[in-house]
Amino acid sequence: MSISKTVIEEIRQVSRIEEVVPRFVPSLKKRGQNYTGLCPFHKEKTPSFVVSPDKQIFHCFGCHAGGNVFSFISKIENLSFADSVRYLGRMYSIEVRDENDSLDDRLKDYYKCMEISSDIFHRYLLSYNGKKGLDYLQMRGISEKSINLFKLGYSPDSWDFIKTNLDKNGIDLSCAFDCGLLSRKEGAGDAVHMYDKFRDRVIFPILDRFGRVIAFGGRVMDNGEPKYLNSPETKIYQKRKVLYGLNEAHKYITEKKQAIIVEGYLDVIGCFQHGIRNVVAPLGTALTDQQILMLSRICSEIVLLFDSDNAGFKAAVSAVELHKQINTDVKLRVALLPEGDPFDYVSKYGGSALIEIINNAEEPVIFQLNNVLKNNPVIDTSIIKSLFRIIDTIEYGTERSAYIKYLSEKLKISNDILADDFSKYKNNAPVKELVPERNIIIKNDEYIIKSFRELFNLLFNYPELISSAALDFSEFSLNDPVIKSIFDRLCEIAAFSDEITISKLFDYFTDSKEREVISSCVLFDYSVDEPRKAYSEIYLNLKSFNIDNKINYYNNLIKSGDGEISSSLLELEQWRKEKEKLRDFVYNIYSFHNNILQH
Ligand SMILES: [Zn+2]
Repeated sequence: MSISKTVIEEIRQVSRIEEVVPRFVPSLKKRGQNYTGLCPFHKEKTPSFVVSPDKQIFHCFGCHAGGNVFSFISKIENLSFADSVRYLGRMYSIEVRDENDSLDDRLKDYYKCMEISSDIFHRYLLSYNGKKGLDYLQMRGISEKSINLFKLGYSPDSWDFIKTNLDKNGIDLSCAFDCGLLSRKEGAGDAVHMYDKFRDRVIFPILDRFGRVIAFGGRVMDNGEPKYLNSPETKIYQKRKVLYGLNEAHKYITEKKQAIIVEGYLDVIGCFQHGIRNVVAPLGTALTDQQILMLSRICSEIVLLFDSDNAGFKAAVSAVELHKQINTDVKLRVALLPEGDPFDYVSKYGGSALIEIINNAEEPVIFQLNNVLKNNPVIDTSIIKSLFRIIDTIEYGTERSAYIKYLSEKLKISNDILADDFSKYKNNAPVKELVPERNIIIKNDEYIIKSFRELFNLLFNYPELISSAALDFSEFSLNDPVIKSIFDRLCEIAAFSDEITISKLFDYFTDSKEREVISSCVLFDYSVDEPRKAYSEIYLNLKSFNIDNKINYYNNLIKSGDGEISSSLLELEQWRKEKEKLRDFVYNIYSFHNNILQH
């Protein structure tokens, strides 16, 4: 169970105790050379917990707990020394390898199987027999350098090429099957026949963040179908969580604080070849929230650079929608290619032409507005309303008027008239769009589920908040069975256990769907400066959303003349009072937070 000394030292070098501790001690604040805060190991009201960045140690003058960054993690997360090293390794993206790693042996076999296969495909491409694949790549304009950098390969037209070669290398074929390299066919009796899945295709290895091969994409070289054959989802490959090229592009994205998202493998490679290296691609699917969040941790802006065809345009529209729903600071812009895909474009016109297109990428709102205008050459009232609906989603008035101005120039309508119409639209909107009760409930559900997921993110990273959540959040009704059962279980845990740690939490959840939700929360590097404040925000937003929905509902009911007006008016009055109360409460809580900050 030993971890090499060099890795331990490497992690010791990069793990700054003053960065690690605040994740668990939100109250930690700089005082002179040291940091002080409330001790996480005993209950106290005045801070006696000290962290020294110079000495890289912590100490509590109350309960006398003390140690270095490893002992801190080990104590607070209840981990062995080795596991605390692994924990910090994950936090700082340093791979901790050892002979008896807690990583399942089977998983290690999978990685080995994929690595060896990738080598075999790559060497075959460069061999005499791989000429067909190499010719194809060169014909498409892929350089030798790119072929080596992305370790492209070729699988010949054979039913047992990779099967035989893996076998020769001592790889268990059931492993190759689990990794999606082989398919199987039931034969006579108990016989099972396995054969190569990738045949006569150019191979693009898909690597994870740590440079491990986790899947393959295989492209036909003629007009065969499917054009791309990709590895199925396996134990080591979940395509929604992976971006093609990220292992290479990571440092360029961090440097430029910008990530460019293209649609395919060749687009990534083409951009790289022309010096644009902050480029990644989702894997044969629409962009996912996990992918956006992954990028949001390493850059401040994402530029979508999709194909100029209809599919590319639709993909951009849904990515813009998705981005709006995600709670992230990362900005999004949409670059519009005049023709073809990024690969063809950059090959034809060169890197600087493509960079110009990237630089001219549109803000999402402009993109959406132009989308409506493009599809509707004749402007009538309903088009104006669709445009207003887009502008209406913007929170700030100043921004809204800037877009009104943009529209007025675009439509050659005076800004005053348009602004006037917009305010009319805003005033009339709730009257005209009568929302039946059922719709309110559906919308409500979505929002509540989203809020609970946010809450889980927070709770699984700051388990000390679980007991408060069990009390505060029970008032909301949850209609999603998985989310509901996770929350119920958390309430139980809060009731009977004093000390809740992340590692312990997993023991309580056995259902795979629950575990999936939880691990997405836990594995995610999530940290907030003030967990308490984040907590209150989720709670207050949810509460205020609930109240607003009720108010809207009764307002609409009254306007539509359905139901008994007098009882609706009473309800309305009741909910308005609730809203007042909440407003006072929010005011108080923020002055409370501000007071804490000032002290
Ligand atoms: Zn203490």
